[in-house]
Amino acid sequence: METLPPLKDIISKYKLSAKKSLGQNFLFDLNLTSKIARYAGNLEQSDVLEIGPGPGGLTRSLLNEGARKVVAIEKDTRCIAALEEIKTLFPGKLEIVQGDALSTDLRQYLTQPVQIIANLPYNIGTELLVRWLNSTTWPSFWQSMTLMFQKEVANRIVASPGSKAYGRLSVIAQWRCNTKIAFNIPATSFTPSPKVESTVVHFEALKEPRFPAEVNKLEFVVSKAFNQRRKMLRRALKGHFKNVEEGLLAAGVVPTKRAENVTIQEFCLMAQILVRA
Ligand code: SAM
Repeated sequence: METLPPLKDIISKYKLSAKKSLGQNFLFDLNLTSKIARYAGNLEQSDVLEIGPGPGGLTRSLLNEGARKVVAIEKDTRCIAALEEIKTLFPGKLEIVQGDALSTDLRQYLTQPVQIIANLPYNIGTELLVRWLNSTTWPSFWQSMTLMFQKEVANRIVASPGSKAYGRLSVIAQWRCNTKIAFNIPATSFTPSPKVESTVVHFEALKEPRFPAEVNKLEFVVSKAFNQRRKMLRRALKGHFKNVEEGLLAAGVVPTKRAENVTIQEFCLMAQILVRA
């Protein structure tokens, strides 16, 4: 790595002034990016999918930590030349794709097992996460994910029933994964500094979802229940399902409960029993 210039020099060489529209908050501290890479576990037998490598701080760390291969997709064309510099130092190990992670299927570049590791652009982070979790086939193409989110989103992912943060993200993430807060990263570690703190979350995909349910049905009932989280289930689900009260009782769920007190197992039973209106 001695031959790669510091990231700050890369930024000025390629004129990579951060663009807010692309959610660009860069990490220049390679100790931090290495901490993220190491938290993901041993990478030597894994391909890594990285979303938004930017100037390539985390990319360098993933390769330094011995990733078998890194596939990195970046929307900002200005970053590609900077990433090519890293590629020459790790021949055959880095695949750079210029494009939009929301509309590009990268599975053709990846060989199992796959770990997704990224400092996600905050504006599309949740959307990407929901897509990875709501895969129609399970197990999906990835085995684990180590992802950076705004702290508030991270807290929602790992929240338990009964807490204010518990919601749709908690249910869909914990239904199919073991989730864990890895560590927080202060706003001052980023350039430019965002307004909020960030948190790295680790997801380990379960071989089987925790409880049986069809993903589309589960997603539907969970989103309707949390759309009106202060209402009792019987009210929140009315109009979306037939015979709501009967269905809830058949699922063993008290109809006067509110979504934030419904367990993942109860949501799965509701998804099995309730019939859409
Ligand atoms: N990984 C770098 C780091 O840690 O310093 C940059 C992280 S920055 C938070 C997010 C990166 O995602 C930016 O480089 C941005 O250009 C890129 N990005 C934003 N939207 C994207 C999209 N739709 N597809 C791919 N990359 C995107």
